[in-house]
Amino acid sequence: MNNLIVAKFGGSSLASSEQFRKVKGIVFDNENRRYVVPSAPGKRFNKDYKITDLLYLCHAHAENGISFDDVFKIIEERYVTLAKELEVRIDIKKYLDEVKEKVAEGASADYTASRGEYLNGLILADYLEYEFVDAAEIIRFKNNGKFDQEATQKAFDERMAGVERAVIPGFYGAMPDGTVKVFSRGGSDITGSIVARCLGAELYENWTDVSGFLMSDPRIIENPKPIEVVTYKELRELSYMGASVLHEESIFPIRDAGIPINIKNTNRPEDKGTLIIGDDKPVSYSGTITGIAGKKGFTVIAINKMLMNYEKGFCRKLLSILESHGVSFENMPSGIDSVCLVIEDTQLGDKLDSILEDIRKQCNPDSLEVHPNMALIATVGKGMSKTKGISSKVFKGLADADVNIRMINQGSSEINITVGVENDEFEKALRGIYKAFTN
Ligand code: ASP
Repeated sequence: MNNLIVAKFGGSSLASSEQFRKVKGIVFDNENRRYVVPSAPGKRFNKDYKITDLLYLCHAHAENGISFDDVFKIIEERYVTLAKELEVRIDIKKYLDEVKEKVAEGASADYTASRGEYLNGLILADYLEYEFVDAAEIIRFKNNGKFDQEATQKAFDERMAGVERAVIPGFYGAMPDGTVKVFSRGGSDITGSIVARCLGAELYENWTDVSGFLMSDPRIIENPKPIEVVTYKELRELSYMGASVLHEESIFPIRDAGIPINIKNTNRPEDKGTLIIGDDKPVSYSGTITGIAGKKGFTVIAINKMLMNYEKGFCRKLLSILESHGVSFENMPSGIDSVCLVIEDTQLGDKLDSILEDIRKQCNPDSLEVHPNMALIATVGKGMSKTKGISSKVFKGLADADVNIRMINQGSSEINITVGVENDEFEKALRGIYKAFTN
């Protein structure tokens, strides 16, 4: 390991020249911030457009034979203004013209969308006087569309040899035949993580517009406390609240390498942010929890059958029914003669009736109940495995808030207690648990 820092800046951190200036200040403030991964320009204000959305729109227009001139003009203006205000030396108009021509000629959606990061990377590299390295030269995908770590490391080592400081655009890479492919939305986070892994960096900084994760949802809990340190595993368990801060998949490239991620706020660089660390790292918890996250919109299918515990292959049959319908489940609490499948409504779509029919036919249950409108709340903390009284606080918090608990589940890893409550009681339940741990 070295002392290198990879700094990824999100769309809102690069939405205007004012934001670019903050980014420069941050990068130059630490000599080790030598590799920078930018997103495409995001929104400057609430009703503004994200460049990536506009690029997808251009592609959709072009594909349907509709003129995309007007949409492209908005994109052009954003970049031209940035280049002018930052006084960069590259001829950004020339690059924009090239992109427009390619889109008109039928470039793919992935190629078109990737140009948001590409153009922003060109401007940022010039502005920081760092070398521009096209992500298509180093980030590689396999023919099946999956990220190719081995080929990426090889290409990275070759391309980056002797490159001391670089800007590498996020979000995209190349297929084996060289065509551009993008990650899923928000994927610049993944690029940053991959670059950190390839470099064996000491730290991956993810600069955004919030000072890290909060203990709970600020739309429901007034002023929740920040989370200063969280392990990768805890974060996965808290993913109901994490998605908009950090792309879920960005943990995987660096998890094995033990590289921590620091979520930082470009607008408040003095804030500590949240440090995400390896699961094996010692953390002091002093009897409390890390966070509480939840989500509405689940359906529970409860299957009861006498002597289920003696029947071999029962769960296999059950799960293969879900698999055959292309449905994944969130949770599966069980009793001696019963098992519940907790499924997100978006997964279930209109498949509930046919799934129930298959369960009846193939599993022959004594009874089958469906409980719709369920919300799940996960209380998460690595410390709970060694601390007495955490679950009693969760349940007391819920009782004090007058919430009826419909389901309880604690995984054997003991970092998470999940409860199911009625959708209507979700907010009340979250507040009740939060209060129990913070008062
Ligand atoms: N610009 C892409 C998006 O909006 C990727 C990213 O920002 O991470 O999804």
